[in-house]
Amino acid sequence: MTSGRTSLYFDLLDGFKKPRCPICRYALRAVERFFESLTYENTNDPGIRDGVRAARGFCNRHTLQYLSFGDELGTALIYRDLLHTILPAIEEVVPDGLAAVTGALTDPDGQRGAERTLKALAPTDVCIACQRLHESEEHYLTTFLQHLNDQEFVAAFKHSTGLCTVHAGLALHWSRGSHRDLIRRVQQRCWAELLQQLDDGIPDAPVLQQALVAAVGGKGIRP
Ligand SMILES: [Zn+2]
Ligand SMILES: [Zn+2]
Repeated sequence: MTSGRTSLYFDLLDGFKKPRCPICRYALRAVERFFESLTYENTNDPGIRDGVRAARGFCNRHTLQYLSFGDELGTALIYRDLLHTILPAIEEVVPDGLAAVTGALTDPDGQRGAERTLKALAPTDVCIACQRLHESEEHYLTTFLQHLNDQEFVAAFKHSTGLCTVHAGLALHWSRGSHRDLIRRVQQRCWAELLQQLDDGIPDAPVLQQALVAAVGGKGIRP
């Protein structure tokens, strides 16, 4: 089978030669690239601005990741824009203005006001970096499942360190029959080898890192 060999296919093929889950690796890279392009080109992109407003900013982990790019001007523009959206919305639902926000949130008699305030603050969509992450995970997972009849691909998977539990769980959930058996066999072998290394004593840093990723996914793959 040679059809459908997209760049994602070759990413996975290459990823199998490296330690740790390749779906984590490339999904996290997609988020990294999203922030790079935001930093260098897209701070003023109206679609991005709308997405940030709807989600009330990036989520906690992605705000920290964005800050790590050191794009002070872009960050200031995006979060100033966000405050210009949120603050008038709050002013509208709290007649006494911002000074009453804390009161509305804590006063037992101000329950309705508190509810209106919380509604004005509430996001209407999820963080756009989380969206990018989930899209990428889905694309790589789909590519993985589509190529389980491809000899070269399967051979590379069999010789890899396998998927993390997050992505192996999804792969097992979405696969059937011989494909599911294949995934189960490879993953059982990978996890058994990893456990053996942990049983053998205090592991070196790469093995420890591999064990952590295998158990909970790559850093930032889940909140
Ligand atoms: Zn993973
Ligand atoms: Zn996020």
